Amino acid sequence: MHITILTLFPEIFNGVFESSILGKSLVNHTWSLDLVNIRDFAESKNKEVDDKTYGGGRGRIIRADVLAKCLDNAILKIGETPRIIYTSPRGKLITQNKIRELSDSQNIIFICGRYEGIDQRIIDAYNVEEISIGDFVLTGGEIPVMAIVDAVVRLLPGTIKNTEFDDEESFNNNLLEYDQFTIPADVQINGKVFSVPRELTSGNHSVIQKYRYENSKIITAKKRPDIWAKFVKSKFEK
Ligand code: SAM
Repeated sequence: MHITILTLFPEIFNGVFESSILGKSLVNHTWSLDLVNIRDFAESKNKEVDDKTYGGGRGRIIRADVLAKCLDNAILKIGETPRIIYTSPRGKLITQNKIRELSDSQNIIFICGRYEGIDQRIIDAYNVEEISIGDFVLTGGEIPVMAIVDAVVRLLPGTIKNTEFDDEESFNNNLLEYDQFTIPADVQINGKVFSVPRELTSGNHSVIQKYRYENSKIITAKKRPDIWAKFVKSKFEK
């Protein structure tokens, strides 16, 4: 997979994309990355990329002419028009299903907004998909792009061992993952002993499986009634 990121702050990505699993998979060529500075495509003397919004109002908008040049250049380099995503609070909320769908793409261009966003004509002219990471407003699209790229690259073959994925991972089968524990089996915190549920230390595979499944259901119903409703509906339909 090749990912192109159009941003006014390419340096923001360095630490995250150089470290740990993302960094390793980049070095191993599981995916490749092109970080493009939108400002390089500004033609004015002062390299301006933004201006006031038509109709008045607060804030500034990234200009369509500058962004179009930047996009055309990225598309030319790729050799075909790829999927283009603009991260925006107005976009459709991202889900693990969407991440799975994106992980099947060969090429994705991400546009990181700044200020009050980008000129609408870019979204219309390039058939840009708007994706949100939650109902809150950040200062820029870089953190949302990092989050989406992290989740997508994690699913690419070769990023992490296949055995680390399974049916029980959160959001699969409309359930959240069960509670997990490691050694020691008993731990004293603030004078109180907290023990690992005895089913998990039983060594009996079917007891452990049953406990985890029931625990997943309890956790999902408690923490995410919206996902729990989907689980109940799917069981009812079956
Ligand atoms: N004026 C915009 C609005 O009210 O919808 C908010 C602009 S925000 C200050 C600047 C940029 O941050 C956006 O263009 C977008 O790229 C990014 N951004 C902010 N919140 C986001 C979110 N929840 N999901 C995805 N991107 C977000």
